Amino acid sequence: MSRIVVVGSNHAGTAAINTILGNYKGNEVVVYDRNSNISFLGCGMALWIGNQIRGSEGLFYASQGSLEKAGAKVHMQAEVQAVDFDEKKLRIRTTDGGEFEDSYDKLILATGSLPIIPDIPGMDLKNVQRVKLFQDAQAVIDKLKEPEIRNVVVVGAGYIGVELAEAFQRHGKEVTMIDIVDSCLCNYYDREFTDLMSDNLTRHGIRLAYGERVTELKGEGGRVASVVTDKNVYKADMVVMAIGFRPNTALGKDRLETFRNGAYRVDRHQRTSVPDVYAIGDCAVVYDNVLNDVNYIALATNAVRSGIVAAHNVCGTPLETIGVQGSNGISIYGLNMVSTGVTLEKARKLGFDARATDFTDKQKADFMEVDNPEVKIRIVYDAKSRVVLGAQMASRYDVSMGIHMFSLAIQEKVTIDRLKLLDIFFLPHFNKPYNYITMAALGAE
Ligand SMILES: Cc1cc2nc3c(=O)[nH]c(=O)nc-3n(C[C@H](O)[C@H](O)[C@H](O)COP(=O)(O)OP(=O)(O)OC[C@H]3O[C@@H](n4cnc5c(N)ncnc54)[C@H](O)[C@@H]3O)c2cc1C
Repeated sequence: MSRIVVVGSNHAGTAAINTILGNYKGNEVVVYDRNSNISFLGCGMALWIGNQIRGSEGLFYASQGSLEKAGAKVHMQAEVQAVDFDEKKLRIRTTDGGEFEDSYDKLILATGSLPIIPDIPGMDLKNVQRVKLFQDAQAVIDKLKEPEIRNVVVVGAGYIGVELAEAFQRHGKEVTMIDIVDSCLCNYYDREFTDLMSDNLTRHGIRLAYGERVTELKGEGGRVASVVTDKNVYKADMVVMAIGFRPNTALGKDRLETFRNGAYRVDRHQRTSVPDVYAIGDCAVVYDNVLNDVNYIALATNAVRSGIVAAHNVCGTPLETIGVQGSNGISIYGLNMVSTGVTLEKARKLGFDARATDFTDKQKADFMEVDNPEVKIRIVYDAKSRVVLGAQMASRYDVSMGIHMFSLAIQEKVTIDRLKLLDIFFLPHFNKPYNYITMAALGAE
């Protein structure tokens, strides 16, 4: 029997806790989280803010009660202040001012990530918002009710920025989205795809300010009033910072081995460089099957999987992560985009002799008398090894399931040539006999 302490009980921590308690009897599982809630699904934040779902109730799938019912001892609003990795001890402080010590046999660090806040003047002005926690979303929703908040500036055109821009526009706000690079979603999609999304946003009245660096936020009477970039000044009654996340590794950064961005380095068992200490979720690296190396990809999907892997290893069942491809999706005003692996641009930056094969066609047979949207697909592959490195798809049709096959292809190092004559079924209700996956693969040089 082990005393297993889990620090952080959001997606990664909850997955680990439930896996331990559901599969292994006799361990003592003690949980600390500094927040007052568990398992907030940030992925639903923009839908909630944009009134596309009724409320926030469905955005939680676990609670202190549910973890305790499963057998954990859960301390909420209890922050682990420090860990003594030699003595296997932790120091904890609760929000009501209490302080105490605890000890562990095995430690799982699931402390997640924190929003990146740029070091520029004006960040402490009123109505400058972060977007990570349930409380952040609630604060934004409260502010949207204030009639004087008319101009909203979103800084960062990654998937969170784009989703929030839509949400604010749905409230009738004047929305400007600023990014230092000259497109949106450029970590996941090539220009041919990001242009589709930019057009989509512009057509809905969102002002795009790409290729601009935010240098300062200016205020009036303590409230934010404008955003200054190296090229322009934008009026702003509320500013939402969505420029990314950094791993929250304050507890172990001086002792555990870390990646270039500070994330805990873990092996394929989620073990850190210190015995009996595991790290999972956004505070740790993932194994990236495109790079064949570790990388940092902060996603709830990765967090949950890493939690499951760590739980089995902590309890004595050796289990290696199968690695990830960074599969992701976004749906904005009905434009659905999904991708996995790397873009052509990224692949080339990484040193691959990368090529792309593209195809655009209708989803279903032309004779179908139903709504039949186009689908655009790109498959990225390595010219030498022919191995698939990435795929991107965009459509008004829900093509999301298609990307999972490419995720598996990357994981299993399938070549583009193996996809050319792949048995893909045909039924007019669903697709075409010469469907776009086959056609794109056949088009590969
Ligand atoms: C707006 C938004 C939308 C997103 N959309 C998606 C999506 O569509 N798909 C997807 O896969 N991912 C999405 N993500 C990313 C996803 O939410 C994160 O990858 C996920 O939350 C990581 O889970 P985690 O448990 O590793 O870390 P976190 O969620 O960061 O949780 C860490 C936990 O640790 C606790 N903690 C930290 N330090 C301490 C300490 N010292 N003591 C005690 N407790 C501590 C925190 O209170 C927190 O509960 C989104 C994120 C945001 C913000």
